[in-house]
Amino acid sequence: MRKTALITGASRGIGRATALELAAMGYDTVITCSHSEKELATVKEEIERKTSSSCTASICDVGNPDDVDRLFSLLGRLDVLVNNAGISYVGLLSQMSVESWQQVLNVNLSSCFYTARRAVPLMLSQGGGRILNISSVWGKAGASMEVAYSASKGGMNAFTKALAKELAPSNIQVNAVACGVIDTAMNECFSPEDMAALREDIPADRIGQPAEVARLVGQLVTAPSYLTGQIITIDGGWC
Ligand code: NAP
Repeated sequence: MRKTALITGASRGIGRATALELAAMGYDTVITCSHSEKELATVKEEIERKTSSSCTASICDVGNPDDVDRLFSLLGRLDVLVNNAGISYVGLLSQMSVESWQQVLNVNLSSCFYTARRAVPLMLSQGGGRILNISSVWGKAGASMEVAYSASKGGMNAFTKALAKELAPSNIQVNAVACGVIDTAMNECFSPEDMAALREDIPADRIGQPAEVARLVGQLVTAPSYLTGQIITIDGGWC
């Protein structure tokens, strides 16, 4: 029986790299994003050209529970769920609107609830599964000007630990990967000077690559099942 992995936010960046990694490992993939239909189709085409895995691409706003329910109605089985879709917000908390706050929390954190509550019954019926949440070092350390983002990732870390305890007896492992600075569109809001300053603070003396995060996700998917409830940091020794 072929295994299936769902990767949210896979039209670019870490999600795209993770979808390619899991497809290369032999997983059939289901990839989503909320807007970038053309880019998502390109990732699907790339997966099907480079691997023998099948790929289903579907537009789904993970911050919308009805959208997530519709996505899961397409799934017959699910072995790996990667909650990767996320958005950032950079700005002073005192100037942040309620709408922006709710959007960051909804897309980055509530989405994990919307997907996991539908993934767990599928995984239970198959005797197990893996849930990987793509978190951030800011979820533990907190970042100035990124309070909502930090809170969403801190919530994701607690969600990971709590759900891991709930699901360990059912052979479903739940872990998170806390990224440092990774070279994706999410950091395009920072100037070259900002990025150079960040790099100076990173002991590895470079920005991380999406493929490195994807490789770690691939390793966690095949890690011993006793590894669960962990927040694993990949940040070049930064935080
Ligand atoms: P990215 O290049 O901006 O990619 C984000 C992906 O999420 C895109 O595919 C985007 O597609 C999708 N997305 C955004 N909102 C969505 C929604 N409501 N529903 C479904 N998909 C949505 O960012 P990235 O750096 O690869 O980020 C991936 C994850 O890594 C995020 O959770 C982020 O917080 C985390 N992370 C990144 C860094 C970093 O330095 N890059 C560091 C720490 C953690 P659409 O816009 O078309 O929806």
